[in-house]
Amino acid sequence: MPDRVRLTCPKCGAEWESADRPGSIATCAGCGSPVKVTLPTVVPTGERDRCPACGSGDSVPLGDKAIEAFYAAYKQKKSPFLLFRPRKCQACGQRWEVNPPRWALVGGIAILGVGLVLCLAGAVVCALWAADSEEPAKSGGLALTAFAAAVGCGYGIRHYVQKLRTAGRPPGEGDSRPDRW
Ligand SMILES: [Zn+2]
Ligand SMILES: [Zn+2]
Repeated sequence: MPDRVRLTCPKCGAEWESADRPGSIATCAGCGSPVKVTLPTVVPTGERDRCPACGSGDSVPLGDKAIEAFYAAYKQKKSPFLLFRPRKCQACGQRWEVNPPRWALVGGIAILGVGLVLCLAGAVVCALWAADSEEPAKSGGLALTAFAAAVGCGYGIRHYVQKLRTAGRPPGEGDSRPDRW
């Protein structure tokens, strides 16, 4: 059974969950317009022991191969922040990514926050050094690398903060909004 796809009617704006195959044409229940079923790009998320689609508590963790296929289906690289294996519902076949517990998110934000401050400080030091150095290209490059690492930490923090915000929502609400990062 394919994963559910969130569809929006371009004519009347109605939204619904469809189990139709990507590439097929669904019909809007509101106005009857044909709506193309697009490939989902947002990985569904949910609690560890509750299916976000049907609420069943009967699920199994995915194996390594299945995890790869799961993320490939959503055209995403495997998330580096996974603490739990994604799961598959035994009742309806829905696959989803397990929301990390709050303490892990808060801890991740704290660690990345420290990393961000250190990298920014490193970038400033290297930039000052570059201004003074006989090899400005080398130290300037280091400053850029440190700055890039700081930006990476920043993105990581946004990722965690966003997960923290959606973690407390009832299933079905937080899982379908577009992930901007
Ligand atoms: Zn419609
Ligand atoms: Zn289910």
